[in-house]
Order: sequence, then structure tokens, then C-alpha cells
Amino acid sequence: MTATAEYGTATAEYATAKIAVWWDMKDCPIPGGYDAGQVRQSLEGAFKERGYSGSVSITAYGEQTQTPGHILQGLLSTGISVAHTRAESVHYMMYRDMVEWRGQNPPPATMMIISNKVRGVFDWDLLRLQQRTPYNLFLAYSVVPKVAILLSTSEEWCWKSLLKLSGPHVAVQGAKLYCNSCNFDTQSLKKFKKHIWSYEHVREEIINPTYDKVVCVTEKWGKNYKATPEFATAKIQVWWDMTSCPLPEGYDARRVRPSLEAAFKELGYSGPVSITAYGDHNHTPLQALSSTGVHALHCVPDLPDMASVVEKWHYDNPPRAATIMMVISDHVDWISHYLVELLQENNYKLFLAYSFRPSKTSFLLTSAEWLWESLLAGSEQRRLVLHKCSSESGEPTATFNCSLCHFGTKSIDQFRKHLSTDKEHAKEEMRLPAVRKLNIKENRRSRVADFDRKGKRMK
Ligand SMILES: [Zn+2]
Ligand SMILES: [Zn+2]
Repeated sequence: MTATAEYGTATAEYATAKIAVWWDMKDCPIPGGYDAGQVRQSLEGAFKERGYSGSVSITAYGEQTQTPGHILQGLLSTGISVAHTRAESVHYMMYRDMVEWRGQNPPPATMMIISNKVRGVFDWDLLRLQQRTPYNLFLAYSVVPKVAILLSTSEEWCWKSLLKLSGPHVAVQGAKLYCNSCNFDTQSLKKFKKHIWSYEHVREEIINPTYDKVVCVTEKWGKNYKATPEFATAKIQVWWDMTSCPLPEGYDARRVRPSLEAAFKELGYSGPVSITAYGDHNHTPLQALSSTGVHALHCVPDLPDMASVVEKWHYDNPPRAATIMMVISDHVDWISHYLVELLQENNYKLFLAYSFRPSKTSFLLTSAEWLWESLLAGSEQRRLVLHKCSSESGEPTATFNCSLCHFGTKSIDQFRKHLSTDKEHAKEEMRLPAVRKLNIKENRRSRVADFDRKGKRMK
């Protein structure tokens, strides 16, 4: 986690930054007997314990005709704003306000969402927003999600366990009471109550109901973006799955690098490009690939252990350096959980290429996407020019690795010898079916561990 030094503890960047809280009162109500006037102090107490001392603004959402007057009074007098919405519109309103707040409050800042609907309602769009502009994030819920939330958070709390403090109220001025149905607001509880029980208010909710569904603002985002200055010269690391995105019949492998570089340049990216081609290198044009500096990684067919390849790369990559990752594969979903974590927590961008366009938009936020074959075909006209450029700059030296034996060399002959005659390697290749089964098991085990780890964070 880059947002936090220790789990849940504020870094200097966030220690005094502002904190905004969106609270779904229906999912996470005030427990019976608990004093509404203590909610702010309890939340602030939890933040202070972790080193956060920035100003905290809290808005409580719900169908407020259902909320007893003493609760509204307790919230209002301690500086918690109250928003009335139709019960069906709570999530729409919360999310609309979050997006608006993000637009007005650039990072560093902390967001906290108190709701059981983060997973399934907010997470797809919020994940994509966080990959472009990350905020420090806290979550609280009254029901532990069955599936781990992919949002990178500083901490996730159990709602009731947060409400610990009790004592005299600390009055905080400035909170407002909103009616989202009528765009009405006031600081007077009396006026608010009168409003939400008025004929005009009821009529407005019926003739002009607010949306029921969360509006995903990233849905319409484009696929290919011109490079920003920070990323225009950033390193580009390409992982190319030669099994799902093979070379087209008769295609000259030496044209892969220039084709990629040309496509990048078209969008304004001109940083150094490193390409690793993984697949069964018994059957690839090794000579042609390596002559243009494409690294070879020999893998178990259908199951390259991409997560560990990416993990090792990330470990070696300088922290906080602007970097672009590119995956050429139809199976990016195999590592999408890991990629989305990297994209939220590092200064990375993602490019994708695939042989089939996925039927639905992934939660992975990309800066550019291509169809593999059109990406390769695109350079046809520019081939001569590019060839000249490449030879002038000099190609990097290719390396050859076997992921089965952890064998590496810079000599193509040694690599070929390893693949074709090495006895230990042959044994490894024989073990393939077993390895594959083990990998599937391993994958399952790591998901189980991941889930348990998330569960333990609940305090
Ligand atoms: Zn109203
Ligand atoms: Zn080997």
C-alpha cells in the first residue's frame, strides 16, 4: 500500500488532508440505544487513533421521514449533514455526491464510505476512478461482503465496532439538512421536518422521482488517450501472450517491435519499450524476435504464471516512477485482480491488446486498447521509416528464460539447446499436466487466503 505507512496509519501526505464521509443510514443504522450525537466523535476518534487530523465532513443519507426527531437533532447539532432521498435513490445520491466532491477536491484527501453496497453498486465505477485519480479510502459496513472488494483501502471497519465513544456532545456548527428530491436545504430542523411532510414535497417525489440507479461516470470514457507529459517518455513494459495472441500466418516477427512502437508514438508515447514474449518457444521464430530485442520466456502452455512475472517486475521497478504496463492477451482477466491493485497503488498506466474485443468493459482502466491484428497491420506504411530509426538507436539485447526450470541465458543457441536436449527440462515438460493441476489448486488457495485476510481486517 502506498497510501499508508503501516496498515491504517496515515502518511504525512494524508495526516492533515480533509476527510469526507458518505453514510448510508439504511444499511448502517444507529444501533438501538446509541446516542446519535456520538457518531461524529466516534469516527473522528478512529481517524485520530490512526494519525488523521484533517477536517471531517459527514453526510447521512436516507429516507428521513423514517428517522426519529431526536436522532436528526443529535446528528445536526454535532455537525453531521442529513440528506433526505427516496429510499430507492440513496445509492444514486451518495455516488453522485461522491463524484461531485472528487471533482471539487483534488487529492490528497480521504474518502470514507459507510454502506453495505460498495461491492456490487459503487465498486465498478469507483475502481476505475481510483485508477485514474487515487484517493485514500476507508470503508465501513455492517455485513462483511462475501466477495473481497477490489478497492485498495487503508482499512475496512465493522460499522458497530466503530461506534465506541460515549460522553457529552461536542457541538459543531455548519451542518445542513437537504431534501434531494426538491433541491431544498435548511439549517433548521423544524423547517426541514415541515418540508418533508409537506404536500409539495410528496407531489415532487411522485411526479419527478430521482434516479434509482447509480450513474457510472467512467462508462463513456474513451479507449485511447494522448499521452500526458508525465507519461510521454515513461518506460513501457509489454507482456505478450503468444498463445492467445499469436503472430498472424506469414507475418515477419521482426515487425512486432516497430509496429508496437509506431502505435505508441501515434498517441504520443515515446519511452523505452521492453517486450517479453511468453509461450511455447519450441515453436516460435526465436531468431527474428530476439534480433529486435524481444525477450523470450518459455512457459507451460495455457498457463503462464503471469501474476508472478508481473510481481517480480513490479518489485524491481523503481517506486513511484511513472510506468506503462501493456498486456497482449485474451486472458487479462486471469491477472486483473493483481493489475487493478497495482494501478490503484502506483503511478502506472495500462495498455491492452487482444484478438477479440471483450463483450463488457472491465473494471481495469486502460489508457489505450488495440485489436492485436490491426495493431500489427497498422505499421505497414511506416515500415521503412521505422526500420531506419530502430537501427540507428541500436536494439537492446534479448534474454531467454525458461519459467519451468528458472533457467536464463543471453545465447539463443544455449536456449535452444536447453529446450530441446536438457534432461531436467524434459522432465519438467513431462510433469506439465501435474503442474497445471497444481497451479489451479495454488490459484484457489491464494484466493481463499486473500478472502480470509480481508475477513481478518474486520475489527
Ligand atoms: Zn422535498
Ligand atoms: Zn526449462
